[in-house]
Amino acid sequence: MARYVGPVCKICRREGKKLFLKGERCVSTKCSFEKKSYGPGQHGQTNRRRRSNYGLQLREKQKIKRMYGVLEKQFRCYFQSASHQKGITGTNLMKFLESRLDNVVYRLGFAPSRKMGRQLVSHRHFMVNGVIVNIPSYRLRAGDIIQIREKSKKLDSIHESMKRIQGDHDLPWLILDKAKMQGIFIQVPERDQMSIDVNEQLVVDLYSK
Ligand code: SF4
Repeated sequence: MARYVGPVCKICRREGKKLFLKGERCVSTKCSFEKKSYGPGQHGQTNRRRRSNYGLQLREKQKIKRMYGVLEKQFRCYFQSASHQKGITGTNLMKFLESRLDNVVYRLGFAPSRKMGRQLVSHRHFMVNGVIVNIPSYRLRAGDIIQIREKSKKLDSIHESMKRIQGDHDLPWLILDKAKMQGIFIQVPERDQMSIDVNEQLVVDLYSK
């Protein structure tokens, strides 16, 4: 599947917000957004046009897609499924995104970013309920157990990432057992448990035109 392979930090600068796409670097002084918090390109510093409603909706959609590393086609599929479910479409959309295996690997602290989580999953380092899963978009269900494969437990990148976890995990929809290097996806999170600052209603408005 095609993936964005351009400069990642430009995405944050384009969206005018830190999206934490690069793990450790994002919380260090090397963060490009900290140094240049204006848009990329020749007119990045001077272009201060007021955005139309459409522009705001489009940027919010791009931001969410890029945060979760999802391309347009798959994102639209998530939206369609979300709109066919009971409840608030925007919240359903976020629930789909948060239930992805690569996101949960990141949320549990096994990877410093969703992108790295995606790579670890596709390289077959994780099992769900005892079965190897190498599909980053794999949708977890309540009660699923996410484990690191025995032979992958020595991976430096996972250990480095786990070192950053301070105390207990603060996401009530996940349980992390650091000693066993495994986590449980207790339930699909409610919107207020996701700790993510996006306005998904703008995406609903955009796709509903
Ligand atoms: Fe964004 Fe991280 Fe790059 Fe900073 S270091 S601009 S937060 S991707």
